Amino acid sequence: MPQSTTIRTGRFAPTPSGPLHFGSLVAAVASYCHSKSTDGQWLVRIEDLDTPRVIKGSADNILQTLETFGFEWDREVLYQSQRFEIYEEYLQQLISTGLVYACNCSRKSLLKSPQSSGPLGKIYPGICRSKHLNLNSLKLRLNQEAAGLIEFNDNHFGLFKLDLTKEAGDIILKRQDGIYAYHLAVIIDDAFQQVTDIVRGADLLASTTIHLHLNKLLGFSSAEYLHIPLINNEAGVKLSKQTGAKGLSVEIASKQLLDALSFLGQKTTAELYHCKPVDILKYATDHWDRAKIPHPI
Ligand code: GLU
Repeated sequence: MPQSTTIRTGRFAPTPSGPLHFGSLVAAVASYCHSKSTDGQWLVRIEDLDTPRVIKGSADNILQTLETFGFEWDREVLYQSQRFEIYEEYLQQLISTGLVYACNCSRKSLLKSPQSSGPLGKIYPGICRSKHLNLNSLKLRLNQEAAGLIEFNDNHFGLFKLDLTKEAGDIILKRQDGIYAYHLAVIIDDAFQQVTDIVRGADLLASTTIHLHLNKLLGFSSAEYLHIPLINNEAGVKLSKQTGAKGLSVEIASKQLLDALSFLGQKTTAELYHCKPVDILKYATDHWDRAKIPHPI
């Protein structure tokens, strides 16, 4: 896998489970301006990995919306649904390290055993680690007994640490229904696309420690990370498709772009309200200052 590049490369990686909403626009704007302000490339990757969650027509709709909002990407769009063989290759590489095991614990059976929770959800208590079950038809987990403390310097949130052994546990790499885990696919694709700058929502801050650990196991070099604060709805819950976030309105694209820039603490002017989206993005790129992104209180 090629790793050497001097061109800064960013990416936007939406899941096509519905239309883009304001939270996704903020992530797109931040990753776009961050890369383009260094004359870098900006890529779009459709994360249609979890096929049952994919909504038909949603990927095309997302791409059209991005176009209407003035975004241009520098390479062909990558679709995760076309890369299952590649994910399997790297999964086999992980299996050959002896760190992957099959697990037949159901969610229901796990409710009976004491399970603590960490920033990534419930921590699997390792019940199947020593059972040596057949790897062919069960879910597959990564043994993180020896993973320990992972730390990294986020370009917005600063030093972030997570003890994967104690606070994450053995994550799933492939589900029983054969779907590869986001954590596995995302690091393979970021390495393949030679992404140097990952800009995304802070809900993935803790997941980054898993990505760094997997990168190390597979010999990939890691990108720089910048996580942006999450947008909450009126009820204080993260804006997302699941919490009923409304789709973007192409009729008011310029206004929504300016709202996204204001959320990111970036400079805007009253004249920009009369400009086309593409010109607003150009202005935003020329004036991009990541130090202005607000810190949550
Ligand atoms: N596909 C993820 C989402 O739509 C983003 C993943 C990433 O940026 O690493 O939330």
